[in-house]
Amino acid sequence: MTLPKMKRVLLKLSGEVLMGSQEYGIDPAFVLEMAKEVKAAKDQGLQVCLVIGGGNIFRGMAGAAQGMERAQADYMGMLATVMNALAMQSALEQLGVHTRVQSAIQMDQVCEPVIRRRAERHLEKGRVVIFAAGVGAPYFTTDSGAALRAAEMNCDALLKGTSVDGVYDSDPKSNPDAIRYETVSFGRVLADNLRVMDASAVALCRDNDIPILVFSIREQGNLARVLSGEGVQTIVQ
Ligand code: UDP
Repeated sequence: MTLPKMKRVLLKLSGEVLMGSQEYGIDPAFVLEMAKEVKAAKDQGLQVCLVIGGGNIFRGMAGAAQGMERAQADYMGMLATVMNALAMQSALEQLGVHTRVQSAIQMDQVCEPVIRRRAERHLEKGRVVIFAAGVGAPYFTTDSGAALRAAEMNCDALLKGTSVDGVYDSDPKSNPDAIRYETVSFGRVLADNLRVMDASAVALCRDNDIPILVFSIREQGNLARVLSGEGVQTIVQ
């Protein structure tokens, strides 16, 4: 298994990793731990884009299940991702990492709008760019937002930090005999409905030749290990 050559990457974290051991919301101590992982990636000389979900605060589907209009609930979910982005910005800046947040829903007092050329400049200057509010439209997820930004920012890989150490042929939580793939094709992920990212995100990565590295973000130092080729992960390509 050879890792893609990486100079610029997009890291996607689900909102849940910011909760720590809480049931809901943001645990600042845990956000700081995640920020240390991001800093370690930057310290390896990479340009880093970041997308964080909002599931620790609000998911559109959950709101819709309780009777809200789906699109309205999705906008609430997008706003949740902006809160997470600001929390991560704050943690990264505590560590001396310069950042900019760019939101797909304009919020002039809070952060920049998404402007690709400006994001490009931030990355060249060594800043981490945190893309918030997904693609800015309901009926999407931040996985799709991550794939979209990875494509438009010409990222060499999309790094998907989750709570499992890769992609398995069945759910490793319920099946102890589940086998982890070292590499797996986009086609197999889509045909077998393997739970990597949602299908539209996987298809966008496939169509734009962006490999997805799935790894566990829960173990300290793991992102840096994955980037230096010493980690455990699955490459979707
Ligand atoms: N969302 C959306 N459009 C987007 C991105 C996100 O409508 O482009 C909403 C959607 O309701 C989603 C919520 O924001 O449930 C939070 O994002 P997501 O579920 O992707 O977060 P994660 O599971 O990664 O924490």
